[in-house]
Amino acid sequence: MGNEAHIDRAIELLRQARHVVALTGAGISTPSGIPDYRSPKSGLWEKAADMVEVATLAAFRRQPLAFYDWLRPLLHVIREAQPNPAHLALAQLEAVGRLQAIITQNIDLLHSRAGSHQVYEIHGHLREVVCPTCHNVVPAEPLLDAFMAAGKVPHCPRCRHIMKPSVVLFGELLPWRAMKAAQHHCATADVMIVVGSSLQVAPAADLPEMALANGARLIIINYNETHLDDQADVVLRGDVAEVLPQLADP
Ligand code: ZN
Repeated sequence: MGNEAHIDRAIELLRQARHVVALTGAGISTPSGIPDYRSPKSGLWEKAADMVEVATLAAFRRQPLAFYDWLRPLLHVIREAQPNPAHLALAQLEAVGRLQAIITQNIDLLHSRAGSHQVYEIHGHLREVVCPTCHNVVPAEPLLDAFMAAGKVPHCPRCRHIMKPSVVLFGELLPWRAMKAAQHHCATADVMIVVGSSLQVAPAADLPEMALANGARLIIINYNETHLDDQADVVLRGDVAEVLPQLADP
């Protein structure tokens, strides 16, 4: 099959489906200019010898300033980034009732900004900061504005401890509620669309397998191969920002 036939097949699957869930990874945000921060190839690890030295919970507790140094360039690109046609296509599918939920590995808030409502951020997000000491949660924007403008690291208004963005660091547990909802949608879905995830980071790898085990059809849109390609009904290689709008607006 050529790509066109694959696209027709994907459109047909979406048309017949009752419950569609999308799983999105870093690849949906790279057309918005956001590098895959978990990848050593992203360039974000050049200064930090090892991600274990900065982006784990233990490292954050030990040296939060090193974490914020590392975060700064990523924060800069995320705050400048705009949703791209792939994010907008998923929001459009939801708006017309053809997509029930998005499960995302991304912390960049671009799905919400594109207008999607049912979004489960299983690696956390940059909407809030949390105090690791007293568990106080406050909106991130004013504190991160002050950090980017004046280098002021967010401090807890209650106990003065340095606060952490609500993103899941390496070695940290995933947000329980988002994971529960994600699993529910995977157990209910009859079609799952994987967008821009190489399905290498657990538990993202497990969720499509759960959907498959429940009889869902799989559509994979990704630049690179994934270990589930041979179990997918449709595999589309290419730019997600070009492919996904063709499924949303056939
Ligand atoms: Zn506190």
